[in-house]
Amino acid sequence: MPQTTLTFIGTDTYMPQPGNDTTSSILNDHILVDCGWNVAINMTRFGYTPLELDYLFITHCHPDHYLGLAGVLLYMYLWDHDKMLKIAGPAEDIERIVAQAKVYLDWEKLGWWPPNVEVVGLAPDTEFTAGEFTVSTAHTSHAIVGLAYRFSDSRTGRQIGISGDTGYLPAWAEYFHGVDLLVYEATLGLEDPPSDVGHSNVYQAGTIARDAGVGRLYLAHTPPRDKTGILAAGREIFPQTYWPDPGEQVVV
Ligand SMILES: [Zn+2]
Ligand SMILES: [Zn+2]
Repeated sequence: MPQTTLTFIGTDTYMPQPGNDTTSSILNDHILVDCGWNVAINMTRFGYTPLELDYLFITHCHPDHYLGLAGVLLYMYLWDHDKMLKIAGPAEDIERIVAQAKVYLDWEKLGWWPPNVEVVGLAPDTEFTAGEFTVSTAHTSHAIVGLAYRFSDSRTGRQIGISGDTGYLPAWAEYFHGVDLLVYEATLGLEDPPSDVGHSNVYQAGTIARDAGVGRLYLAHTPPRDKTGILAAGREIFPQTYWPDPGEQVVV
């Protein structure tokens, strides 16, 4: 029986703590969503390597979400010259960020093969097919253009929503309606004033999960300093709220 899975590689906010990484996760063992600081090496801690990846989705081009891209490309080059990777992200930025990663690796000067990378610029409110998944996009409310993703696994019917970085939008309840697993950011601490631009807090994450009728809510991009309080606050609004550990795999 096929399963839909999501494995957390990193769950931290902007700067990873030792033993963690910034938000990065792997769907069905071959699709990476966001690319934390040290994601290539951190994948190997949990039995993965970049060679298993067929797709990389970037929610938005802030460095904590793409910093590890050069490491992923270098790993692919060193171990498999023919490896193909499709990189999808916001159309405004994704082509430039991938090109800059190649420049950073000094690809041309060293005479290396460029990796077999295909870049796909995505707009909001569109659909894209990635292997067994249909992926629909939505515009986030953040400092730069960003995309939330809704992944539907055609083999199992299971659905996963990933918010990326975003302020609270009531429209999320409709966009994420009925997903089995919602990975939603809760970057703001309990004392921070709520916002509808930039980032969300756990009260807003729990409200979205409750109003959208999701199966489970996993918090991401969350400051670890107040884990107990944040988790308790989320569960008060939406009892099926969880705080993932790096390496944790969820069967959706
Ligand atoms: Zn951001
Ligand atoms: Zn971020």
